[in-house]
Amino acid sequence: MSDYKMNTKCVQGGYTPGNGEPRQIPIVQSTTFKYATSEDMGKLFDLEASGYFYTRLQNPTNDMVAAKICDMEGGTAAMLTSSGQAANFYAVFNIANCGDHVVASSTIYGGTYNLFHVTMRKMGIDFTFVSPDCTEEELNAAFQPNTKAVFGETIANPALTVLDIEKFAKAAHAHGVPLIIDNTFATPVNCRPFEWGCDIVTHSTTKYMDGHGAGVGGCIVDSGKFDWLAHAGKFPGLTTPDDSYHGITYAEKFGQGGAFITKCTAQLMRDFGSIQSPQNAFLLNLGLESLHVRMARHCENALAVAHYLKTHPKISFVTFPGLEGDKYYELAQKYLPNGTCGVVSFGFKGGRAAAETFMKHLKLAAIETHVADARTCTLHPASATHRQMNDQELAAAGITPDLVRFSCGIEDAADLIADIEQALAHV
Ligand SMILES: *Cc1c(COP(=O)(O)O)cnc(C)c1O
Repeated sequence: MSDYKMNTKCVQGGYTPGNGEPRQIPIVQSTTFKYATSEDMGKLFDLEASGYFYTRLQNPTNDMVAAKICDMEGGTAAMLTSSGQAANFYAVFNIANCGDHVVASSTIYGGTYNLFHVTMRKMGIDFTFVSPDCTEEELNAAFQPNTKAVFGETIANPALTVLDIEKFAKAAHAHGVPLIIDNTFATPVNCRPFEWGCDIVTHSTTKYMDGHGAGVGGCIVDSGKFDWLAHAGKFPGLTTPDDSYHGITYAEKFGQGGAFITKCTAQLMRDFGSIQSPQNAFLLNLGLESLHVRMARHCENALAVAHYLKTHPKISFVTFPGLEGDKYYELAQKYLPNGTCGVVSFGFKGGRAAAETFMKHLKLAAIETHVADARTCTLHPASATHRQMNDQELAAAGITPDLVRFSCGIEDAADLIADIEQALAHV
């Protein structure tokens, strides 16, 4: 599928049935796979032959869907995980061990921030958070001799900052480490980070990729561009023998294109087991088949909503990187020229009380912690996800008490605006 355009990859990537085989990808609902001899199976365990033996490590349905996402991102290898959280944990932990350090953008998703700042710190991995808007000097100053990766989000959830991917890639490579980017909000339809120097991409497939609020999932894709052997001293897990896998050296045996994902599967999925179920992978694939069509509508609706709110007398600010005048509009034009995402955030001249009244009167937009669904959903963080924080703590987290996050679905924009208009009339 690699020669086809994105729209075709979304629909047909990852699986090409042979004569008389099912048109839709089969759900291989089996934990295990049968072999004729112990020798046959032994070769699989030694990673001498490729094949399936236990679904915790690999499953054909999952591999077809991972291959589609790999193709869409333009990578060399990919794997599905049970959630976006698992994808980000595995992607970082695959190369950063106890005693290591990672540089991360400060505006990343709250769940990822918590994973890094609290849980992975307990594992002995240190993080330095830098503003996505930092200068090259500030960025370079964040590196330490034990730094193993740089992490950011193409479009941050929910801050809606756009990462200057080239700036972050340049700094990462100058220090001999890969750039990992969570591409959840942009999806490969709107941005392919590998084309800008990123080395590894992660996804919460729970969001636009699934798109229907049906299944939680994640994915990791390797660009195959990072030369582990050229920085062998920094990445012993990839460049020295793995005693837990019969002395295999991943970077030598699987090359630059396969080492990262093979190690991640053979070690981390083996030991932690955060697999996506084949049923969920099937649902994810159904979502991917229409991703290119849905993303365009999400972006179109979000732009219409942002334009409407921008001039409304009761609205104090609108944040949407696709809106001219937005702080990240120029970066969005560079990295996401065909559209950004469907999420818009805005505030009220009437403050927190106005936001609460607005939320109460919405009819079509549902109050949910979810985003990036076909159905429009919205959240007032100060009274939901961030309700334990006082106004000062909210400000430090970049959230004002009046901020509403509005995730535009793929309904008719006129209906979304009418819903907003009638709710605003009560404010
Ligand atoms: C939701 C989200 C995650 C976490 O994904 P889950 O599938 O909920 O575990 C990670 N990164 C971003 C950008 C997200 O929006």
